Amino acid sequence: MGAGKTRIAVIGAGAAGMTAAGTAASCGADVTVFEKNRVPGKKLAITGKGRCNVINNCTVPEFLENVPRNPKFLYTAVSGFSPADIMDFFEGLGVRLKTERGRRVFPCSDRAGEIVDALYRYSESAGASFVFDKVRGIERAGEGFEIRLSDGGTEWFDRVILATGGLSYPLTGSDGDGYVFAGRLGHGLIEPRGSLVPLEADRDICSPLMGLTLKNIVFSAADDKGREVYSEFGEMLFTHFGISGPVVLSASAHMDFSKGSRYTAKIDLKPALDMKTLDRRILSDFSKYANRDASNALDDLLPKKLILPMLSFCGIDPHKKVNLITKEERRRLLENLKSLSIRILGARPVREAVITSGGIPVKEIDPKTMQSKLVPGLYFAGEIIDCDGYTGGYNLGIAFSTARLAGKSAAGSSGTGKNSLSGSGQDKKGKRKTMKIAIDGPGGAGKSYLAKQIAKRLGIIYVDTGALYRTVGLAVKRAGIDPHDTEGVVSLLGTFSIEMEHNDNGQSVLLDGEDVGGLIRTQEISMYASAVSAIPKVREYLFSAQREIAEKNSVVMDGRDIGTVILPDADVKIFLTASPETRAMRRFLELKEKGPDVTYEQVLSEMTERDRNDSTREVAPAVAAEDAVVLDNTDLDGEATADRAVEIIREKTEGKNF
Ligand code: C5P
Repeated sequence: MGAGKTRIAVIGAGAAGMTAAGTAASCGADVTVFEKNRVPGKKLAITGKGRCNVINNCTVPEFLENVPRNPKFLYTAVSGFSPADIMDFFEGLGVRLKTERGRRVFPCSDRAGEIVDALYRYSESAGASFVFDKVRGIERAGEGFEIRLSDGGTEWFDRVILATGGLSYPLTGSDGDGYVFAGRLGHGLIEPRGSLVPLEADRDICSPLMGLTLKNIVFSAADDKGREVYSEFGEMLFTHFGISGPVVLSASAHMDFSKGSRYTAKIDLKPALDMKTLDRRILSDFSKYANRDASNALDDLLPKKLILPMLSFCGIDPHKKVNLITKEERRRLLENLKSLSIRILGARPVREAVITSGGIPVKEIDPKTMQSKLVPGLYFAGEIIDCDGYTGGYNLGIAFSTARLAGKSAAGSSGTGKNSLSGSGQDKKGKRKTMKIAIDGPGGAGKSYLAKQIAKRLGIIYVDTGALYRTVGLAVKRAGIDPHDTEGVVSLLGTFSIEMEHNDNGQSVLLDGEDVGGLIRTQEISMYASAVSAIPKVREYLFSAQREIAEKNSVVMDGRDIGTVILPDADVKIFLTASPETRAMRRFLELKEKGPDVTYEQVLSEMTERDRNDSTREVAPAVAAEDAVVLDNTDLDGEATADRAVEIIREKTEGKNF
């Protein structure tokens, strides 16, 4: 445990707790996870009928449309760690994923346990430690918190992340103690109710059908004013108290029984047939079985268990001969087959719900950080927050995204961290142990792609230092100064500001407040950057900003002198290279996508010139550090390069506690 590290307690080792713990630990915090069960992820292991619907493979706006309660609150969290990021994250942890109907994503193994293991490994290897003991209380102590454990002992932490889940499935440990801890610290509570919960319904209809599963039906529900609140094709089942199954659980998230509303469900047992076709079908079955009793004439249309109850709903005597069934009786049968109506009486208790709606009010939590607005240093993640989504992977998505944000913010590396070159931004807490990865190498080797992949897979920040030199190049060009005119360039330094912003979508560079990310990737600016980067004063000017960001965060930084000058003490140094022809071809294809007026020969010759400038300049020549691992990816694609680099990082950091 490094002195000076931020000490964070994460309460609960579920989906949210482990994600928050791994994230905070990767950002350099000293993290302890408290879990009252003997194993982590107990509820996660039974989700999706044991298959774990990890996420929905949709866009951020689509995701938010599937969150009926408080979607706006989730905007920063979900944009910062989107469904696509979550899929990348798990694949980076070695979990192969597949997308099924309704864009539901599952592990290819169909084993929820694989997700639990991956999250546990992720948080442990990032350095989080686990204590399997029940937390008895959390109290404010100075600027931090004291956690009381079952043996009466206490431990002190700077920050606490509450990830205790809701009230659903209490046997898995979700018994609401997080609400109690938060309440004692001053938080309110929106009364927890079940969402994605079985429904109590008209027993006269449901009891005789108990145990019957209906597949390929359309289940609709309308409120007492007749407004449809839900309609979906799928599967449901009858229980001793009412109805359950996938479409019913989903429908429940659209119902609110707290204000005394009542709902009616309608089941279309034959959604593929319209009224006319179905009527013809009944008539043909009736003529085929003309001499049978009604109870023996519907086998082709309905499951056995449903025939007698259906005849009873329609007021048809089951012993009546089919050829004696009246037109009116046939009309009632047709109507009930297309629209079997069931009165819904309410929801089952929250302990039977898949998830909990209600919880800590979102107005008491800062959506940009997940930090409590009432208790500094207290953070929330996952189901404990008053936010919930429909079925389809949205609730686990909420857990992962809020946990990622809470973990980052609690560790002090906010999701929208800003690093300014005009001073400021000193780390008041002093140095923390952060992971530093240096990637150097010539242009076109794929450094930035690799660094982005590493950042994603390890959950750390990517810093593209070339963008800084390019931005200086742009400022020089705009000022009309020749980039080889050392005096002119130096006199310009300090007359403009450069800022780097980092979030989960990557890095932006601002020149005097303007985002210039789209303007600095031209061949012309490459040459300006190469020229100004040979000027010692320019390098000095950019030095401290690069150091500062690496001191505050776990970073993967790419450039030319990262392993040699900027981060000589980096934990891992990779010098990425490839043959000049391969690099030129990659750059050429990249440039061609943006605009056609460039030839391969031009790119190759400019790249060779830039290589020469960069590697022969007097200050910080672009060469491999002595202790760098040289990775030649002439014959490797981006993925294979990233796989190899991650192996190198694992080998180099084994045993180091980040
Ligand atoms: O990596 P990128 O091609 O964006 O870098 C642009 C130029 O900036 C390089 O050709 C190099 O001259 C310079 N550079 C540098 N030191 C770094 C990063 C980039 O000299 N750390």
